[in-house]
Amino acid sequence: MAILKVMKLGAEVLRRPAAEIEAKDLRRGRFKGLFEDLRETMVEYSGTGLAAPQVGSPVRAVLYMVEAAGKRSPLGGIPPTILVNPSFEAEDPKEVEDWEGCLSVPFLSARVPRPRKILVRALSETGKPVEFVAEDFHARVVLHESDHLDGVIYLDRVKDRASIRYTIDF
Ligand SMILES: [Zn+2]
Repeated sequence: MAILKVMKLGAEVLRRPAAEIEAKDLRRGRFKGLFEDLRETMVEYSGTGLAAPQVGSPVRAVLYMVEAAGKRSPLGGIPPTILVNPSFEAEDPKEVEDWEGCLSVPFLSARVPRPRKILVRALSETGKPVEFVAEDFHARVVLHESDHLDGVIYLDRVKDRASIRYTIDF
């Protein structure tokens, strides 16, 4: 296991579409090492999500978690979860704005509009199909991380550009 270097904005790997992963490769455990490294790296940097391209692996896998405490997840948290080849349908077309940041864009934050409620389809880390509805912060995290698989950075989606701000004092 290893803590990996997180690619920063400007790295080419963050701007290109990542490759699909085959279920049989998940069943064979081919990506187990990558998933362990993603987990270790996310914990090290206190992230709430991390996509494989952010650590230089251009494949369609993301890791995320939702903390149980606080009003962001009143129904309880979500433990660190890997999603492979995720796809979405908007369950609620209404978009809501909230703050986002990104380990690849350190010290910045901005308000980003996202669908409030989505249906997610993906493969689990062992190659099983999964399908679930995600709402509010959960939906936001899944969508933010999955954007990385298409070379999209959250700043690309900001409508209220005046909301872009530093999160630290220089
Ligand atoms: Zn990000």
